[in-house]
Amino acid sequence: MTFESLGLSGKLLRAIADEGYETPTPIQAEAIPAVLAGHDLLASAQTGTGKTASFTLPILERLNQVKPARNRPIRALVLTPTRELAAQVEASIKTYGKYMPLKIASIYGGTRMGPQIARLRKGVDVLVATPGRLLDHLGQGTADLSSVETLVLDEADRMLDMGFIHDIRKIIEHIKSERQTLLFSATFSRQIRKLADDLLNNPQMIEVARTNTVAENVTQVVHPVDRHRKRELLSHMIGSKNWRRVLVFTRTKHGANRLAEQLQSDGLTSDTIHGNKSQSARARALDSFKRGKVRVLVATDVAARGLDIDELPHVVNFDLPNVAEDYVHRIGRTGRAGNDGDAISLVCVDEHYLLRNIERLLKRDIPSTVIPGYEPDLSIAPQPIPGAKRPSNRSGSGAGKSYSRNGQSRRYGGGGGGGRNSGRPSAPNTRGSGKSLPAPVLNKGKRKQA
Ligand code: AMP
Repeated sequence: MTFESLGLSGKLLRAIADEGYETPTPIQAEAIPAVLAGHDLLASAQTGTGKTASFTLPILERLNQVKPARNRPIRALVLTPTRELAAQVEASIKTYGKYMPLKIASIYGGTRMGPQIARLRKGVDVLVATPGRLLDHLGQGTADLSSVETLVLDEADRMLDMGFIHDIRKIIEHIKSERQTLLFSATFSRQIRKLADDLLNNPQMIEVARTNTVAENVTQVVHPVDRHRKRELLSHMIGSKNWRRVLVFTRTKHGANRLAEQLQSDGLTSDTIHGNKSQSARARALDSFKRGKVRVLVATDVAARGLDIDELPHVVNFDLPNVAEDYVHRIGRTGRAGNDGDAISLVCVDEHYLLRNIERLLKRDIPSTVIPGYEPDLSIAPQPIPGAKRPSNRSGSGAGKSYSRNGQSRRYGGGGGGGRNSGRPSAPNTRGSGKSLPAPVLNKGKRKQA
């Protein structure tokens, strides 16, 4: 199958070829013809599957077929949960549309309204926006959505998680009902189905992969370690393995700042990306990381959602996320576009039940190995994690996880009755030892460096 056979034409094909893409990914193969034919879409696709191009390419194709009105009204609108994703989607649209005379812009919070107003006044064909800031513009009368023909809700599940549902509904009141609506979501919760029922008109359903799966080319491992030794272990791993580019996740903004400072004092250039930073500071941090000036980028979940960083071989969970699905999103930052990736989780005694939730979601155990010299102290009692819901069932609390050292399996932590891993030795050498789940892997093509 080729992009041409999906119905895309010259200017887009040229831009796609420039990117080095050779064949459409599964989501692209299904979504492109459906969107070109004008259907509404309810699509489930995990990150890294090429979903941005799956909606962008057909939208651009359709827009390019009709000459824009003189005042250049907004004809396509993409809503995203975060500023980073908005900036990234805008960059992708510009990349794919570079041979077309279309005007593309993004608006999001954390930056001044003035330049955005000026940009909107000049005319925009495709607008990418976060809901809050777009509502501000609508309230002031500086954005007009009355000519929008196609609406995309990207990462709709995340937008709902972040409380944007009312904003989204208010925005949609400004858009005519004879429009095309494309809804992308990693999960299909009851809330998402309700939203889809309300907004979509006889949609085509696309599900390219089971949700909550991890790409096969990402190797996952857990390193048990004491709470207070995580930072030391992380510095040790980065230094001894000579990792040059590592994305590290922490649960809180404060934790991210503290860790980055500590790593910096260990001699590792580090920066942070989280919601307390201004947009320009976040963009600067990301840019330094992509250009290799910063070796470690410490991120929180919201800020890192949707980040697309070429050549990111290592993702570290310094803390496990409170929400198991976030684990999948986090480690989806590595192993993109068919590259190999390592996802490493440093897990202390407080987090055993979070790990179990993740393993339950993945329907597999994550191999666990202790780094010599960092063996957990079995006498340390678990402490509650702020904001994390402890499961009420008996399997949820106290049960430890087994790990192996010198081929012998033992248990650490908790001490409660019989976690499902107890007594089961885990592989000392973890690479490739886990069962892999079916997941879409992008076709390798030569890719541009960020
Ligand atoms: P996304 O899922 O939209 O975040 O895309 C993930 C990555 O895959 C991006 O870096 C894209 O540039 C890349 N990509 C998208 N489509 C293709 C394709 N057909 N072949 C190779 N790489 C692709």
